Amino acid sequence: MIGPSGTTRLAGVIGDPVRHSLSPALHNAAFAHLGLDWTYLAFEVPAGGGADAVAAMRALGIEGLSVTMPHKAEVAEACDELSPAAAMLGAVNCVRRSGDRLIGENTDGVGFVNSLRSQAGIEFAGMHAVVLGAGGAARAVVVALVSEGASVTIVNRSVERAMQAAELGKQAASAAGLGSSMSVMVGAPGAVREADLVVNATPLGMHGTDPMPAPPELLGRGQIVVDLVYMPAQTPILEAADEAGAQILNGTGMLLFQAAEQFKMWTGRAAPIRAMGAAVGLDIAG
Ligand code: NAP
Repeated sequence: MIGPSGTTRLAGVIGDPVRHSLSPALHNAAFAHLGLDWTYLAFEVPAGGGADAVAAMRALGIEGLSVTMPHKAEVAEACDELSPAAAMLGAVNCVRRSGDRLIGENTDGVGFVNSLRSQAGIEFAGMHAVVLGAGGAARAVVVALVSEGASVTIVNRSVERAMQAAELGKQAASAAGLGSSMSVMVGAPGAVREADLVVNATPLGMHGTDPMPAPPELLGRGQIVVDLVYMPAQTPILEAADEAGAQILNGTGMLLFQAAEQFKMWTGRAAPIRAMGAAVGLDIAG
Protein backbone atom coordinates (compact mmCIF):
# COMPACT_ATOMS: atom_id res chain seq x y z
CA MET A 1 0.00 0.00 0.00
CA ILE A 2 1.44 3.40 -0.97
CA GLY A 3 -0.23 5.55 1.68
CA PRO A 4 -3.54 7.05 2.75
CA SER A 5 -5.99 7.84 -0.04
CA GLY A 6 -9.56 9.08 -0.32
CA THR A 7 -10.87 5.68 0.77
CA THR A 8 -8.57 5.14 3.75
CA ARG A 9 -10.41 4.47 7.01
CA LEU A 10 -9.18 6.21 10.14
CA ALA A 11 -8.78 5.14 13.75
CA GLY A 12 -6.73 6.73 16.51
CA VAL A 13 -5.98 7.26 20.16
CA ILE A 14 -6.87 10.31 22.25
CA GLY A 15 -4.91 11.13 25.40
CA ASP A 16 -2.60 13.58 27.11
CA PRO A 17 0.25 12.79 27.13
CA VAL A 18 -0.02 10.60 24.04
CA ARG A 19 3.09 11.17 21.93
CA HIS A 20 4.89 8.25 23.62
CA SER A 21 1.97 5.88 22.86
CA LEU A 22 2.75 2.48 21.33
CA SER A 23 -0.82 2.15 20.02
CA PRO A 24 -0.08 3.60 16.54
CA ALA A 25 2.75 1.07 16.11
CA LEU A 26 0.47 -1.80 17.21
CA HIS A 27 -2.53 -0.97 15.03
CA ASN A 28 -0.63 0.18 11.95
CA ALA A 29 1.39 -3.08 12.07
CA ALA A 30 -1.89 -4.99 12.11
CA PHE A 31 -3.36 -3.00 9.18
CA ALA A 32 -0.17 -3.48 7.17
CA HIS A 33 0.00 -7.20 7.96
CA LEU A 34 -3.55 -7.78 6.71
CA GLY A 35 -3.27 -5.29 3.81
CA LEU A 36 -6.16 -3.19 5.15
CA ASP A 37 -6.61 0.35 3.84
CA TRP A 38 -6.74 1.82 7.34
CA THR A 39 -4.48 4.13 9.29
CA TYR A 40 -4.17 4.95 13.00
CA LEU A 41 -3.01 8.27 14.46
CA ALA A 42 -2.34 9.73 17.92
CA PHE A 43 -4.40 12.81 18.84
CA GLU A 44 -3.18 14.92 21.74
CA VAL A 45 -6.43 15.98 23.42
CA PRO A 46 -6.10 17.95 26.68
CA ALA A 47 -8.17 17.12 29.78
CA GLY A 48 -11.80 18.15 29.30
CA GLY A 49 -11.71 17.52 25.53
CA GLY A 50 -12.93 13.92 25.52
CA ALA A 51 -16.55 14.69 24.62
CA ASP A 52 -15.43 16.99 21.77
CA ALA A 53 -13.22 14.18 20.47
CA VAL A 54 -16.22 11.82 20.47
CA ALA A 55 -18.23 14.47 18.58
CA ALA A 56 -15.39 14.73 16.08
CA MET A 57 -15.43 10.95 15.65
CA ARG A 58 -19.11 11.21 14.81
CA ALA A 59 -18.70 14.19 12.47
CA LEU A 60 -15.64 12.90 10.61
CA GLY A 61 -16.66 9.27 10.35
CA ILE A 62 -13.64 8.05 12.32
CA GLU A 63 -14.05 4.28 12.61
CA GLY A 64 -12.59 3.69 16.04
CA LEU A 65 -11.01 5.51 18.97
CA SER A 66 -8.73 4.24 21.67
CA VAL A 67 -9.06 6.32 24.83
CA THR A 68 -6.37 6.81 27.41
CA MET A 69 -5.66 9.13 30.34
CA PRO A 70 -7.31 11.49 31.23
CA HIS A 71 -10.44 10.85 29.14
CA LYS A 72 -11.80 7.44 30.09
CA ALA A 73 -14.60 8.67 32.38
CA GLU A 74 -15.58 11.68 30.25
CA VAL A 75 -15.83 9.56 27.10
CA ALA A 76 -18.07 7.09 28.96
CA GLU A 77 -20.53 9.97 29.40
CA ALA A 78 -20.34 10.97 25.73
CA CYS A 79 -21.08 7.56 24.12
CA ASP A 80 -24.58 6.50 23.02
CA GLU A 81 -24.28 3.15 24.77
CA LEU A 82 -21.80 1.31 27.00
CA SER A 83 -20.76 -2.35 27.06
CA PRO A 84 -21.35 -4.13 30.39
CA ALA A 85 -17.63 -3.88 31.27
CA ALA A 86 -17.46 -0.16 30.47
CA ALA A 87 -20.69 0.51 32.37
CA MET A 88 -19.47 -1.36 35.45
CA LEU A 89 -16.12 0.46 35.44
CA GLY A 90 -17.52 3.87 34.40
CA ALA A 91 -14.56 4.05 32.02
CA VAL A 92 -14.18 3.64 28.27
CA ASN A 93 -10.87 2.77 26.60
CA CYS A 94 -12.31 2.11 23.14
CA VAL A 95 -15.16 3.55 21.07
CA ARG A 96 -16.61 1.60 18.18
CA ARG A 97 -19.39 2.37 15.72
CA SER A 98 -22.56 0.37 15.39
CA GLY A 99 -24.48 2.01 12.56
CA ASP A 100 -24.99 5.60 13.70
CA ARG A 101 -24.40 4.78 17.35
CA LEU A 102 -21.11 5.06 19.22
CA ILE A 103 -20.52 2.25 21.69
CA GLY A 104 -18.10 2.66 24.60
CA GLU A 105 -16.12 -0.46 25.45
CA ASN A 106 -13.44 -1.34 27.97
CA THR A 107 -10.85 -3.90 26.83
CA ASP A 108 -8.32 -3.41 29.67
CA GLY A 109 -9.56 -6.37 31.73
CA VAL A 110 -9.77 -8.84 28.87
CA GLY A 111 -6.39 -7.60 27.63
CA PHE A 112 -4.87 -8.29 31.05
CA VAL A 113 -6.33 -11.79 31.29
CA ASN A 114 -5.45 -12.74 27.71
CA SER A 115 -1.88 -11.48 28.08
CA LEU A 116 -1.27 -13.56 31.21
CA ARG A 117 -2.82 -16.62 29.59
CA SER A 118 -0.75 -16.21 26.45
CA GLN A 119 2.54 -15.16 28.02
CA ALA A 120 2.53 -17.24 31.19
CA GLY A 121 -0.12 -19.96 30.66
CA ILE A 122 -1.98 -18.80 33.76
CA GLU A 123 -5.30 -20.29 34.85
CA PHE A 124 -6.93 -17.91 37.28
CA ALA A 125 -9.55 -20.03 39.02
CA GLY A 126 -8.59 -20.60 42.65
CA MET A 127 -5.61 -18.26 42.45
CA HIS A 128 -5.02 -15.56 45.06
CA ALA A 129 -4.02 -12.17 43.63
CA VAL A 130 -2.90 -8.96 45.27
CA VAL A 131 -3.62 -5.85 43.22
CA LEU A 132 -1.58 -2.76 44.17
CA GLY A 133 -3.63 0.34 43.32
CA ALA A 134 -7.32 1.14 42.99
CA GLY A 135 -7.45 3.49 39.99
CA GLY A 136 -8.92 2.83 36.55
CA ALA A 137 -6.46 0.11 35.54
CA ALA A 138 -6.62 -1.59 38.94
CA ARG A 139 -10.42 -1.70 38.87
CA ALA A 140 -10.41 -3.28 35.41
CA VAL A 141 -7.90 -5.89 36.61
CA VAL A 142 -9.85 -6.62 39.82
CA VAL A 143 -13.11 -7.12 37.91
CA ALA A 144 -11.38 -9.35 35.33
CA LEU A 145 -9.60 -11.48 37.95
CA VAL A 146 -12.73 -11.99 40.03
CA SER A 147 -14.75 -12.86 36.92
CA GLU A 148 -12.14 -15.53 36.14
CA GLY A 149 -12.52 -17.07 39.61
CA ALA A 150 -9.50 -15.62 41.41
CA SER A 151 -9.73 -14.18 44.92
CA VAL A 152 -8.30 -10.68 45.21
CA THR A 153 -6.83 -8.46 47.91
CA ILE A 154 -6.60 -4.77 47.02
CA VAL A 155 -3.79 -2.69 48.55
CA ASN A 156 -3.96 1.05 47.96
CA ARG A 157 -2.74 4.33 49.41
CA SER A 158 -6.31 5.61 49.74
CA VAL A 159 -8.32 3.00 51.65
CA GLU A 160 -11.57 4.59 50.52
CA ARG A 161 -10.71 4.01 46.85
CA ALA A 162 -9.60 0.47 47.69
CA MET A 163 -13.03 -0.16 49.23
CA GLN A 164 -14.75 1.19 46.11
CA ALA A 165 -12.65 -1.16 43.96
CA ALA A 166 -13.52 -4.08 46.26
CA GLU A 167 -17.22 -3.21 45.91
CA LEU A 168 -16.86 -3.39 42.12
CA GLY A 169 -15.11 -6.75 42.49
CA LYS A 170 -18.04 -8.04 44.54
CA GLN A 171 -20.49 -6.84 41.89
CA ALA A 172 -18.42 -8.66 39.26
CA ALA A 173 -18.47 -11.84 41.34
CA SER A 174 -22.21 -11.61 41.64
CA ALA A 175 -22.60 -10.90 37.88
CA ALA A 176 -20.45 -13.97 37.15
CA GLY A 177 -22.69 -16.08 39.40
CA LEU A 178 -19.87 -16.55 41.94
CA GLY A 179 -21.77 -14.77 44.70
CA SER A 180 -20.40 -14.66 48.22
CA SER A 181 -18.07 -17.64 47.70
CA MET A 182 -15.61 -15.24 46.08
CA SER A 183 -13.23 -13.31 48.31
CA VAL A 184 -12.54 -9.69 47.41
CA MET A 185 -11.02 -7.65 50.22
CA VAL A 186 -8.95 -4.64 51.12
CA GLY A 187 -5.58 -5.43 52.68
CA ALA A 188 -2.19 -4.14 53.75
CA PRO A 189 1.11 -4.47 51.84
CA GLY A 190 2.00 -7.57 53.89
CA ALA A 191 -0.67 -9.47 51.89
CA VAL A 192 1.86 -9.67 49.06
CA ARG A 193 3.71 -12.49 50.89
CA GLU A 194 0.81 -14.94 50.47
CA ALA A 195 -0.12 -14.00 46.90
CA ASP A 196 0.21 -16.28 43.85
CA LEU A 197 -0.07 -13.25 41.60
CA VAL A 198 0.99 -9.67 42.39
CA VAL A 199 -0.09 -6.87 40.04
CA ASN A 200 1.31 -3.36 40.24
CA ALA A 201 -1.49 -1.16 38.93
CA THR A 202 0.02 2.09 40.24
CA PRO A 203 2.35 4.27 38.17
CA LEU A 204 5.12 3.75 40.77
CA GLY A 205 8.24 2.58 38.93
CA MET A 206 7.90 4.90 35.95
CA HIS A 207 10.40 7.34 37.46
CA GLY A 208 13.73 6.54 39.08
CA THR A 209 12.85 8.34 42.30
CA ASP A 210 9.55 6.45 42.89
CA PRO A 211 9.18 4.35 46.03
CA MET A 212 8.44 0.62 45.56
CA PRO A 213 4.68 -0.11 45.27
CA ALA A 214 5.08 -3.05 47.72
CA PRO A 215 7.81 -4.41 50.00
CA PRO A 216 10.15 -6.25 47.60
CA GLU A 217 11.46 -8.57 50.35
CA LEU A 218 8.02 -10.24 50.45
CA LEU A 219 8.30 -11.41 46.82
CA GLY A 220 9.68 -14.81 45.97
CA ARG A 221 9.77 -18.08 44.05
CA GLY A 222 6.42 -19.47 42.94
CA GLN A 223 4.88 -16.03 42.47
CA ILE A 224 4.03 -14.21 39.26
CA VAL A 225 4.64 -10.47 39.46
CA VAL A 226 3.10 -8.25 36.79
CA ASP A 227 3.74 -4.54 36.41
CA LEU A 228 1.23 -2.70 34.23
CA VAL A 229 3.94 -0.09 33.62
CA TYR A 230 5.78 -0.83 30.36
CA MET A 231 8.10 2.18 30.23
CA PRO A 232 10.68 1.41 31.54
CA ALA A 233 10.44 -2.24 30.48
CA GLN A 234 11.93 -3.41 33.79
CA THR A 235 10.79 -1.45 36.84
CA PRO A 236 12.54 -1.76 40.23
CA ILE A 237 9.79 -4.05 41.57
CA LEU A 238 10.18 -6.37 38.59
CA GLU A 239 13.95 -6.39 39.09
CA ALA A 240 13.51 -7.28 42.76
CA ALA A 241 10.93 -9.97 41.92
CA ASP A 242 13.22 -11.44 39.27
CA GLU A 243 16.14 -11.57 41.73
CA ALA A 244 13.88 -13.26 44.28
CA GLY A 245 13.02 -16.00 41.76
CA ALA A 246 9.49 -14.89 40.84
CA GLN A 247 8.20 -14.99 37.26
CA ILE A 248 7.86 -11.44 35.90
CA LEU A 249 5.88 -9.68 33.17
CA ASN A 250 5.65 -5.99 32.32
CA GLY A 251 2.63 -4.12 30.90
CA THR A 252 3.48 -4.48 27.20
CA GLY A 253 1.50 -7.72 26.97
CA MET A 254 -1.66 -6.15 28.40
CA LEU A 255 -1.24 -3.22 26.02
CA LEU A 256 -0.96 -5.62 23.09
CA PHE A 257 -3.93 -7.78 24.01
CA GLN A 258 -6.25 -4.88 24.84
CA ALA A 259 -5.36 -3.38 21.45
CA ALA A 260 -6.06 -6.72 19.74
CA GLU A 261 -9.61 -6.68 21.15
CA GLN A 262 -10.12 -3.14 19.84
CA PHE A 263 -8.79 -4.11 16.42
CA LYS A 264 -11.32 -6.99 16.23
CA MET A 265 -14.20 -4.71 17.21
CA TRP A 266 -13.37 -2.10 14.58
CA THR A 267 -12.40 -4.27 11.61
CA GLY A 268 -14.32 -7.48 12.28
CA ARG A 269 -11.06 -9.35 11.60
CA ALA A 270 -9.00 -11.51 13.95
CA ALA A 271 -6.05 -9.49 15.20
CA PRO A 272 -2.67 -10.60 13.78
CA ILE A 273 -1.28 -10.86 17.29
CA ARG A 274 2.18 -12.01 16.28
CA ALA A 275 2.74 -9.07 13.91
CA MET A 276 1.36 -6.66 16.50
CA GLY A 277 3.63 -8.13 19.18
CA ALA A 278 6.67 -7.84 16.94
CA ALA A 279 5.91 -4.13 16.51
CA VAL A 280 6.41 -3.62 20.26
CA GLY A 281 9.23 -6.12 20.77
CA LEU A 282 7.16 -9.08 22.01
CA ASP A 283 7.54 -12.57 20.59
CA ILE A 284 4.01 -13.97 20.83
CA ALA A 285 2.96 -17.29 19.34
CA GLY A 286 -0.26 -16.89 17.38
P1 NAP B 1 -5.06 6.13 38.08
O1 NAP B 1 -6.50 5.89 37.80
O2 NAP B 1 -4.55 7.51 38.22
O3 NAP B 1 -4.72 5.31 39.45
C1 NAP B 1 -3.43 5.38 40.01
C2 NAP B 1 -3.35 4.48 41.24
O4 NAP B 1 -2.01 4.51 41.71
C3 NAP B 1 -4.23 4.90 42.39
O5 NAP B 1 -4.65 3.76 43.07
C4 NAP B 1 -3.28 5.72 43.26
O6 NAP B 1 -3.57 5.70 44.62
C5 NAP B 1 -1.98 4.99 43.05
N1 NAP B 1 -0.84 5.90 43.22
C6 NAP B 1 -0.48 6.91 42.39
N2 NAP B 1 0.60 7.54 42.87
C7 NAP B 1 0.93 6.92 44.04
C8 NAP B 1 1.95 7.12 45.00
N3 NAP B 1 2.86 8.09 44.87
N4 NAP B 1 2.00 6.29 46.06
C9 NAP B 1 1.07 5.31 46.20
N5 NAP B 1 0.08 5.08 45.34
C10 NAP B 1 0.01 5.87 44.25
O7 NAP B 1 -4.14 5.45 36.98
P2 NAP B 1 -4.48 4.17 36.06
O8 NAP B 1 -5.15 4.61 34.81
O9 NAP B 1 -5.13 3.16 36.92
O10 NAP B 1 -3.02 3.69 35.64
C11 NAP B 1 -2.16 3.07 36.58
C12 NAP B 1 -0.91 2.55 35.85
O11 NAP B 1 -1.29 1.50 34.97
C13 NAP B 1 -0.23 3.62 34.98
O12 NAP B 1 1.16 3.46 35.09
C14 NAP B 1 -0.68 3.29 33.57
O13 NAP B 1 0.26 3.69 32.60
C15 NAP B 1 -0.76 1.76 33.68
N6 NAP B 1 -1.66 1.17 32.67
C16 NAP B 1 -1.15 0.24 31.83
C17 NAP B 1 -1.96 -0.35 30.89
C18 NAP B 1 -1.39 -1.38 29.96
O14 NAP B 1 -2.05 -1.73 28.96
N7 NAP B 1 -0.21 -1.92 30.24
C19 NAP B 1 -3.33 -0.02 30.80
C20 NAP B 1 -3.83 0.94 31.70
C21 NAP B 1 -2.97 1.53 32.63
P3 NAP B 1 -4.72 6.64 45.28
O15 NAP B 1 -6.03 5.97 44.95
O16 NAP B 1 -4.41 6.63 46.73
O17 NAP B 1 -4.57 8.00 44.63
